[in-house]
Amino acid sequence: MSVEIAERAGFCFGVKRAISMATEILDSHQDSTEPIYILGEIIHNPQTVEMLEKKGAISITEEDLEKVEPGKLILRSHGAPLEVIEKAKKLNFEIINTVCPFVKKAQIISNKHIESDYKIVIVGKKEHPEVKALLSHSGFKAQVIGSVEEIPNLNLTTDDDVVIIVQTTFSVREFKNIIGEIALLSRETKVYNTICNATFRRRKGALSVAQKVDVNIVVGGKNSSNTRELTNFLKDSGFLAYQIERPEELTKDLFTQVKKVGITGGASTPMWVIEKVKICIENILDSR
Ligand code: SF4
Repeated sequence: MSVEIAERAGFCFGVKRAISMATEILDSHQDSTEPIYILGEIIHNPQTVEMLEKKGAISITEEDLEKVEPGKLILRSHGAPLEVIEKAKKLNFEIINTVCPFVKKAQIISNKHIESDYKIVIVGKKEHPEVKALLSHSGFKAQVIGSVEEIPNLNLTTDDDVVIIVQTTFSVREFKNIIGEIALLSRETKVYNTICNATFRRRKGALSVAQKVDVNIVVGGKNSSNTRELTNFLKDSGFLAYQIERPEELTKDLFTQVKKVGITGGASTPMWVIEKVKICIENILDSR
């Protein structure tokens, strides 16, 4: 076989759950005039957002909440900030929260430490919606860092007790470095490894295929942090990898002197997009 799809490529449990909750609501309200909104991208995948919009979902931002007629409001799998949920409730929206249970677990840990003397550190990408929501669940008491270089910003002393929570899709390698450094600078360090198992399993599957092929194609939304991490993981492991969002981005020159191709996809990539990419690559290889 010249093109192989890695095990665990594509939708993870949390994304499948969020899409199925949203689809169920939309399908059961086809005859209703009540508007159904999605706050932000339910997952970082444009094809899935388009599919839900075709079923009647209206994508809105937090700023739109006050401008639109209240209705059902679907919140994303990455979680939403508490103040946004409260604001939507006050404006009479009915909340359908599709937050992934693994993300929810990190939010609960974050919330549990608000009243404690621990300094709360969230390891993750500051601009990622999941991290913004986590920060809100810490009562904005947490500090966010995304790399070892940012640790000095925490101003830690050996009198500090620190609790660390991590974005579910964060790089394991970088997380290890960060917790090691923080442990050396503080009195007590409590680490909650909230990196999701789906990430480990997807990487394992991608690695196993990467060892057998000449080039890897990683499929996922341009805004998808976990897809980017997956691509970087393959590159850092010494494999040739390209990230694409749509099959149309594939060009012949990516496959010069290539005999075998591996495909994987981020947690928010539908399998039908991955299958389409596979067919497209097979056509390119056959046409040479
Ligand atoms: S990657 Fe993990 S934490 Fe994120 S939505 Fe999927 S299952 Fe949940």
